Amino acid sequence: MTENEILSIISETNVYQKIKELKRIYQELEERQKVFCSTFDVHCLDGCGNCCLVFTPDIKMVEAYFIAYGLIINGRDKEVLEILANYDKDKKTCPLYLYNNKYHCSIYDYRPLVCRLFGSSITKDKDNNPAYRNCKWKDDNSLTKEELNLKKEALVFMSDYGQRLQEIDPQDTKTEILEVALTKAINVLNYILELEKKTS
Ligand code: SF4
Repeated sequence: MTENEILSIISETNVYQKIKELKRIYQELEERQKVFCSTFDVHCLDGCGNCCLVFTPDIKMVEAYFIAYGLIINGRDKEVLEILANYDKDKKTCPLYLYNNKYHCSIYDYRPLVCRLFGSSITKDKDNNPAYRNCKWKDDNSLTKEELNLKKEALVFMSDYGQRLQEIDPQDTKTEILEVALTKAINVLNYILELEKKTS
């Protein structure tokens, strides 16, 4: 099936409307993070990827569908299903970590929200002041609330994007570990595509 055929089937579904909304949020986030990072000189260490070595995200189904969609249109869904099926659940490393890749993520363009926010966004402290927690792999100083408050318009708050993600599907309040949610999402999208093939 070509990418256009896949798109024309999936674009009829409710899932696709949610994927489209998520993509719009990610694009906006990317623009705002460029401003945030250049304003405060925040950046990951070149070729680091250490966070993915000790972390597997919990994600929402809409995030899983977006990754699954990306994998299917790129013909990588079977390969990733196999990786997920053989993944050692006691390992801390994300199953999608890839050493031999610039970003160390095998689904970088489709990665979940938390992976986009980590290191390039702001939280709030107990007094509601902006707080930036520096990544533990870097030894430069964290930004103070005074520095952050000087350029409030450039701040990107993690909680705002968590809220936007929740609003895409307000009924779906759960998250699941990436390998579980992504396996389900790939299987659901492939089921929709198979069904269409049989009925057309
Ligand atoms: S999905 Fe990608 S960016 Fe996120 S933890 Fe896994 S390897 Fe890292």
